[in-house]
Amino acid sequence: MLTESSWSSGNGILAVVPVLGDNLLRRNINRNTDCSRCGAPETLFHLLFFCPFAVNVWGLAPWKTSFDSLRSASFQDELQTSSRQINLPPVGITSNIFPWICWGLWLSRNQLIFESKTLTQQQLVNRAIVACKKWETWNKEHEVAGLAWVYSTSSSIELNRGSSLQSAVASPLVAEALAIREALWHASAQSYKRIWLRSDSQWLINAINLNLRLIELYGILSDVDALVFSDFLSVSFSFVSRNHNGPADFLAKACLCMNPSGLDL
Ligand SMILES: [Zn+2]
Repeated sequence: MLTESSWSSGNGILAVVPVLGDNLLRRNINRNTDCSRCGAPETLFHLLFFCPFAVNVWGLAPWKTSFDSLRSASFQDELQTSSRQINLPPVGITSNIFPWICWGLWLSRNQLIFESKTLTQQQLVNRAIVACKKWETWNKEHEVAGLAWVYSTSSSIELNRGSSLQSAVASPLVAEALAIREALWHASAQSYKRIWLRSDSQWLINAINLNLRLIELYGILSDVDALVFSDFLSVSFSFVSRNHNGPADFLAKACLCMNPSGLDL
């Protein structure tokens, strides 16, 4: 197994880094029409952060630290920042509710325009909490993982991205290992030859670099070994903290929530 020291910098080096997975929200959202709630020009930023309705919604988010959406600078920054938010205990969710609230704002906007249905801000937040809980439960019960990967140059310019839904996933560790294998498969298909792969699973990265093999990961990591030796000139694996992995998490969740039924807000 190649280790991190085998990676050398230079042209053509690729890094797998998290990049915003906003494909759920991007489609059809930037229309030059006025906001149906307040009459201001409707932009993505307005809908999600600046509309008085959205400002009030964010004010009700179940976070320990309040979020002033009027100070938002970019969707990606807010997504990353929100991954560090602590959910208030009575809510009973452990994952980041930020994507669910964004999704709720988008859906409620469509319901207002196309069905003349209105939701209160509190109803929207409540539905986001319920959807987030459903997602957490469904994910656990069905042992399904959303896998996501993003290819970028060493200067963080995105080249390519992908995601897939994997069933019968026994644990989060297996999901991380599957994501690495998928990322390598797709990198090979793109004819990338030098890869620096980063994951937020420190244990898994150590297991790969130290050639440790758990039984549950043996087959997957054997595939990873085979890919590394047959398809690439160099591959290195390193750890990236979860604080910097929020967008990749979001991309994986987007992959999950677009597929199963019964998860609509
Ligand atoms: Zn508005």
